[in-house]
Amino acid sequence: MIQFEHATRTYGSKIAVSDLSLTIPSGELFALLGPNGAGKTTTIKMLVGLLRPSGGVIRVCGHDLITETRSAHLHLGYVPDEPYLYDKLTGHEFLRFIADMYRIPRDLSQEYIKREIDRFELHEFANELAENYSLGMRQRLVFAAAFLHDPDVLVLDEPMVGLDPRSVRIVKDLLKSKTADGMTVFMSTHTLAMAEEMADRMGIMVQGDLKFLGTVSELQEQVDVETRSLENLYLEITSRPTGRQKASSNDI
Ligand code: ATP
Repeated sequence: MIQFEHATRTYGSKIAVSDLSLTIPSGELFALLGPNGAGKTTTIKMLVGLLRPSGGVIRVCGHDLITETRSAHLHLGYVPDEPYLYDKLTGHEFLRFIADMYRIPRDLSQEYIKREIDRFELHEFANELAENYSLGMRQRLVFAAAFLHDPDVLVLDEPMVGLDPRSVRIVKDLLKSKTADGMTVFMSTHTLAMAEEMADRMGIMVQGDLKFLGTVSELQEQVDVETRSLENLYLEITSRPTGRQKASSNDI
């Protein structure tokens, strides 16, 4: 479960995320949408502990990210939009490093690393240095690392960028089966079709405010446009004049 309670982040006088209150229960796949500069990456960086909120509290599985950082992080897996790897480590060495970071005992980590190498089909390049990897290979390795400790909460920033169609299918199938088993997924994306296919609920953020929160059918009920494709609904919501009105769902 993820809880944002009045989470705010400013950069100087700029409000990047404004008073965000949102609960995502276990087993939900949540997609955060919004135009460039809306505040999605800032929200995600606060959620994974890379940025400190200027105000409010964020909890992962009940643990406050600021006061119980280590406990919160043990429940989290994170796939950033620009995968960061150590160029002088092989994929296999990188996974071992991540397993050690999560203090997975050596006898188990062997098994977990093999499981992820199989799952993301890394065999062909797991023993090459990461500096030789293509974008898609890097992304697959980062996914493998994020799943290694079987996190309760998975945070994905633009997860499908760089993945080939076969890898996209592997990731989608895995997200579906993991959420069915109770994993919570928080994903930012610009790909509306992906959100429509995968998300239980979505949020649309504009200039740091959540302008909509709910399902696609709730969005269709709320927005009066002739062609009720998600693209038209999204464009209608994001082109409304900005003010500090909030989304009107009971869930926030
Ligand atoms: P995109 O879809 O383009 O990735 P985003 O929704 O992820 O955008 P953010 O990167 O969270 O948006 O940015 C939100 C706002 O905060 C923008 O106005 C951006 O200019 C500003 N911002 C982000 N990072 C910084 C920073 N380090 N210093 C100052 N302003 C920043």
